Amino acid sequence: MYFHLIGNFNTSAPTGQADADVAALVSEANGTLLAKGAPEGKGARILDLRIEDQKIRVEIESDQYVRAHDAILRLRKPLATLLGKKYRIGIRGIEIESYVAKIPSKNPVKAEKIPYVSNMAFDGDDITIEMEIGEPEIRNSIPDRIITLITDKIAAEGYGGKEEHWNLLWESAEKPILSGEDPTPELVKRNWVKHGASRGQWIYGPEATRIFRTFEQIVKKEVLDFLGYQEMIFPKLVTWDVWKKSGHAKGVYPEIYYVCPPKTRDPDFWEEVSDYYKVTHEIPLDLIAEKIDKPIGGLCYAQCPPFWPFLQGKTIADDAFPIQVFDRSGTSHRYESGGIHGIERVDEFHRIEIVWMGTPEHVVEEAERIHERYKYIFEEILELTWRKAWVTPWFMAQEGLTGTTGNEKVGTTDYESFMPYRDDWLEFQNVSVNGDKYPLGFNVKSQSGNELWSGCSGVGLERWASSFFAQKGIDYENWPESFKEIVGELPKGFAFM
Ligand code: ATP
Ligand code: ZN
Ligand code: MG
Repeated sequence: MYFHLIGNFNTSAPTGQADADVAALVSEANGTLLAKGAPEGKGARILDLRIEDQKIRVEIESDQYVRAHDAILRLRKPLATLLGKKYRIGIRGIEIESYVAKIPSKNPVKAEKIPYVSNMAFDGDDITIEMEIGEPEIRNSIPDRIITLITDKIAAEGYGGKEEHWNLLWESAEKPILSGEDPTPELVKRNWVKHGASRGQWIYGPEATRIFRTFEQIVKKEVLDFLGYQEMIFPKLVTWDVWKKSGHAKGVYPEIYYVCPPKTRDPDFWEEVSDYYKVTHEIPLDLIAEKIDKPIGGLCYAQCPPFWPFLQGKTIADDAFPIQVFDRSGTSHRYESGGIHGIERVDEFHRIEIVWMGTPEHVVEEAERIHERYKYIFEEILELTWRKAWVTPWFMAQEGLTGTTGNEKVGTTDYESFMPYRDDWLEFQNVSVNGDKYPLGFNVKSQSGNELWSGCSGVGLERWASSFFAQKGIDYENWPESFKEIVGELPKGFAFM
């Protein structure tokens, strides 16, 4: 990496008289102050110094270790001390004339409109970026974040557009496959489910609801009660603040359902909207758009982030550990666009979210216990053909945010079921060891001061149902005895003329 910066220290009075002293300080700094922390010979260097009236102009180049923008900050204090003591001159501020960084890359990256970047070019070897920044931006680590953003984009390109690494961990034996059909059309035909009014949304009739509730009951008994989990109710409207802390603010935008509050609840303000509707029987969308505020966040996407404000900023008493809770209080929403398919991939879904927290050892062992319980369910009760894979989302693989990134125990295990009708596999749930990401992000500590980790697991009921129906069909008689026993008699649903 290469950085080149030209900047000025603006002073309270002309500094011509201090010329020799400043020059001495600068040449001294090259080998000492600006080299500190960098490998031998890799520190920042001041290439040129000019004193013009009330400006001390420096030209600095550097490698990635002591970046030129940090170098100019490092100079500020000794320079201020020198000018202040001997000449009674103050430094008013630092002004950056030009700042250019070169990041080695074999490919260009897609990045339009990066804040503070005025130009970006690729020449076959490097991505060159010009930044327009000042002292406050340097103090706020803006240049470093720009560099991280670009290097992340370069790394993402290297993943070839794949979203995650995938490694098979375990595969079940093949179980009896009793259907080769896509289950949703059959469910629709029998009036077990019907499309909701919104895209990717279903209304579940009594039979399908019984199946969902049975899945919940199984998870409750075999996983949650077995391992000692307590039920909580997590919010389902998630604000930006939560997604900033959970990390979702980095990339959730294309898939969320945004939530906008009204600008006011004053009926007068809204009267023209209701009047318009009453006369035309049409919803005046543009008018509504004018009367609502900017989004405050979105509908629940991943289920656990909105739990964390419960612990935010707290020190948890040692005897409260391990923390083991779950939520099944509402829907999750994702804009899946063209990807929606039957009840398999929907925009509105139902999920049990399990969250645990404790020492790193506890969190890892608890994940193992949960895996064992799930295995019991899929082998002994549902008799599924399923497998487990270790997946690392690319952003997690190289995201510098979490202290535990790169720890081999941190990551996600996806559960996949075989879908005979399309001879492919479907992710139907996962178990994640999240390391210290959430306790750090939400500033949660333990009384003992021990390191805190957390884990979570999302049981997607639509995905369980799709997996089960795809393999076992919709005819009750064919289902495994172990499952029928728990379901009991199916309710009698709807018939239409
Ligand atoms: P996929 O790759 O299938 O889109 P994902 O990686 O986006 O899944 P996660 O973010 O890991 O899914 O969500 C956890 C769980 O939530 C999934 O295992 C699944 O059970 C459920 N889930 C996620 N998206 C959907 C959806 N659109 N419809 C139904 N269930 C979903
Ligand atoms: Zn989670
Ligand atoms: Mg998805």
